[in-house]
Amino acid sequence: MSTTVMLVLPEKGHMNPTFALVAELVQRGERVIYYAVEPFRHVIESVGAEFRSYTNPAALIPPAHEGGLFSVMAYLATAAEAVLPQLIAEVGEIAPDYLLLDSMCLWGSLVQQVLQIPAITISSVFVTHPRLPAEDFIRLSYQQLPKEILLNGIQALHSYFEITQRLDHQYGTRSPNIVGAFANAQPLNILFTSHKFHPGGEMFYDDSYKFVGPSVAKRAESVEFPFEQLSAAPLIYISLGTIFNEQPDFYNACFAAFRNMPYQVVMSIGDKLDPSLLDAPPANFIVRSYVPQLEILQRTAVFITHGGMNSTSEALLYGVPVLVVPQHGDQFMVATQVLEVGAGRMIPMAQAGPEALRGLTTQLLFTPDFKANAQAMGAEFKAGGSYVRAADEILAYIKQQQ
Ligand code: UDP
Repeated sequence: MSTTVMLVLPEKGHMNPTFALVAELVQRGERVIYYAVEPFRHVIESVGAEFRSYTNPAALIPPAHEGGLFSVMAYLATAAEAVLPQLIAEVGEIAPDYLLLDSMCLWGSLVQQVLQIPAITISSVFVTHPRLPAEDFIRLSYQQLPKEILLNGIQALHSYFEITQRLDHQYGTRSPNIVGAFANAQPLNILFTSHKFHPGGEMFYDDSYKFVGPSVAKRAESVEFPFEQLSAAPLIYISLGTIFNEQPDFYNACFAAFRNMPYQVVMSIGDKLDPSLLDAPPANFIVRSYVPQLEILQRTAVFITHGGMNSTSEALLYGVPVLVVPQHGDQFMVATQVLEVGAGRMIPMAQAGPEALRGLTTQLLFTPDFKANAQAMGAEFKAGGSYVRAADEILAYIKQQQ
């Protein structure tokens, strides 16, 4: 039995795909210590890991990333500075055999460097290849965004470098540059997607990258949902994910788009929205703050999504075509990949009015190619072996190191 410490961004989108892997590792006799914040204690313990709390949870709450991916980097640096003293002391004391790190977990990379513990990166989001030219990365991340966001991003980048220079000086580490910050490349990197769905997939040919497909398993959480109210009408499912989902205009546009249409609509709106900003839902809508997405997707004809990596992967896994309404960071890349594999359409939030939403959804419902391509991608995802193969690869690698 080996001991591992898991350092992951404490957000549902980053953590959900890890739980099935953790359960698998625990079942095979590994001791898994998982750092997170209190609301996740139950689910972490339910998959058999030991929960440890960051002593500074407020520093880990992501702000609105108003400057695109560079703002994400600034957030990672601020969070790293807040949690490093605790982690270096505690992980040093635990002395795990290896670390499991999120591809965006800057503090994980720095802990690894300070303590010199073997590490494996696991990623539920796209990663950058170390050979990706920075200009390509910048173009990919910013070309579709308004100039304002780039300007905010440049300020955020300045703050990233300011903080990481301070950290590197203090800890003798080497923080990643803008390409490396989204990869956390280690000798073994497990990617929860497929080669074909990953941007620039052809660059990732060496053996350190294992594409295992999405890690989706039955959730430990139990979410109430009135399944008995679902009819035989085609189901449209709408969600902007769990983080940046305060978009009353968009939800009202969805009401207008599908009111009196022969579809049933399930809409997940998050728990931050001021209800007075929402119009009265039409009779064919079921609106909830959070829904059991995996179960809903298995009955869905078209998914209107923000293009979160998990939501999109989950939809494709079940062969559901997607209409992507990207807003932040990697959602634009996810949308581009969806178009690339022909499994859906994309519309910018600013253009997502009732007519466009209705028109594109109808196209996805009645053009069989979209469903066929989503199903083909789902088959490729499944062939990756998911969390079981991830566990095989991790344990084989660690055995090699011992
Ligand atoms: N999710 C869910 N029910 C909801 C909304 C979201 O179960 O009502 C889950 C979804 O299945 C996915 C995760 O929350 O696993 C959202 O992750 P994603 O990467 O798509 O978006 P984020 O929330 O990180 O923006």
